[in-house]
Amino acid sequence: MNTCERFSELFSDYIENFLPASSKQQVESHLSACADCHDTVARLDDLRSHLKSLKHIQASDDFEAILRARIKLDQRARRSSVSAKRRTRPMRMASYSVIAAVIVMSFGYLLWRTETDIQAATPASTSQMQTPVAASLTLNPASFSAKILYPLDRIAPTQLSHQTRKPQDVPSTSAMPDTSQPAPLPLRGAAQQGQFITVSSF
Ligand SMILES: [Zn+2]
Repeated sequence: MNTCERFSELFSDYIENFLPASSKQQVESHLSACADCHDTVARLDDLRSHLKSLKHIQASDDFEAILRARIKLDQRARRSSVSAKRRTRPMRMASYSVIAAVIVMSFGYLLWRTETDIQAATPASTSQMQTPVAASLTLNPASFSAKILYPLDRIAPTQLSHQTRKPQDVPSTSAMPDTSQPAPLPLRGAAQQGQFITVSSF
C-alpha cells in the first residue's frame, strides 16, 4: 500500500473532522504535496455538502419491514434462478450430446452410403471397362492378322508378279498354259490391262 492509498482511508474521517490532531496534520501535509489526493478530498467534500443539503424525508413506520421483505424476496428469486440454471445445464448437455450423436450418425451414414454406392458402381464399371479391353486383347490380334495377311498373301504377290510382266514381255513359253505352276489369280480391271497397281494394305 503506497502513501496515497494509506491516506485515502483517512479522508472520510478527515472531512467529518473525526481525526486526532496528529493524523489530521499528517493528512493535511500530504494533501498540500499531492494534487491527486487533494482533488479526491475536494470531490468528497462536495458530495458531503450535497448530501447534507438534501431535503429530509420522513419514512413511513413500516418502511424498514417492507424493505427487509423485499430484500428477502429478491434473494429467494435469485437463488431459484441459479438452481434452475443448474437443473437445466445437464438437460442442455444431454441435448447437445444427442445433437452431436445425430450429426455423427448421419455423417457416418452418408460415408457408408457413399462407399456402398462406389462399391456397387465399381464392379459394373470395371466389368464394362475390362471386358472390351480383354476382348480386344484376345480377339483383335486374330482379326488384325486376318485383315492384314489375307490381302498380302493372296493379292499382293500376284499383283507384284504381274506388275513386272507386261503382256508383250511374257515369254512365248508362258503363253502356253503351264499346268505345273499354279495359275495366277484372275485380276480385274486395270490389272488385266497391264497397268501398274499400287497395292496398299489399307
Ligand atoms: Zn496522495
